[in-house]
Amino acid sequence: MRSVWVIVVAAGSGSRFGRPKQYEELGGRRVIDWSVAAARATAAGPEDGVVVVVRPDRAGEPEPDATVVVAGGATRSSSVRAGLAVVPGHADVIVVHDGARPLAGAELFARVVEAVREGADAAVPAVEVTDSLRHRSGGRVDRGGLVAVQTPQAFPAAALRRAHAAEPEATDDASLVEAMGGKVVIVEGYPANLKITRSIDLAIAEALLRFGETR
Ligand code: C5P
Repeated sequence: MRSVWVIVVAAGSGSRFGRPKQYEELGGRRVIDWSVAAARATAAGPEDGVVVVVRPDRAGEPEPDATVVVAGGATRSSSVRAGLAVVPGHADVIVVHDGARPLAGAELFARVVEAVREGADAAVPAVEVTDSLRHRSGGRVDRGGLVAVQTPQAFPAAALRRAHAAEPEATDDASLVEAMGGKVVIVEGYPANLKITRSIDLAIAEALLRFGETR
């Protein structure tokens, strides 16, 4: 498997943040720049590439380090499909990454790509859940068997394309591959790989960056 393409989805509206969080400033550059730079460090070969999926009003603007910039859709899954549509047929491994996770570094990307090279149909980073959990309507949830799933997630290209063929919806891609009977391998995630969701996350990411917490 030689060719690695990364799809960075950054077409969200930031409804919980209040505005598109991917363009907020973090450590001297935009949130999205960190995510795309990590993608580019992984997809650095001549046959590799990075697709950045943005909101339609941004699709005409170049993104540093992107091979292609395309307009996303109304949901995360449709944005992934917009990216998938421009990944060339020679790509062997496709990695999907949230533009809103700026602290995922080359080490984490390498870990998921390696798991696919070793035979996974989907490789996902996950971390232990440390809070106690309950259903809003009542009832305890045993956190013992639970992990929180992150991106980047890597796939053999054919598995990801098959999983999206019927245009399903999910909050991540590994669950779609699993629904098709694919084997999901969990690799060790990184607690600092937070998804910028609320404004406080930006302050936390800023502090983590100062401590050099990207991997
Ligand atoms: O909304 P949420 O934070 O779960 O989004 C995860 C990632 O998916 C973000 O990077 C966001 O920009 C992206 N997204 C997208 N298109 C959408 C919705 C979300 O690319 N329609």
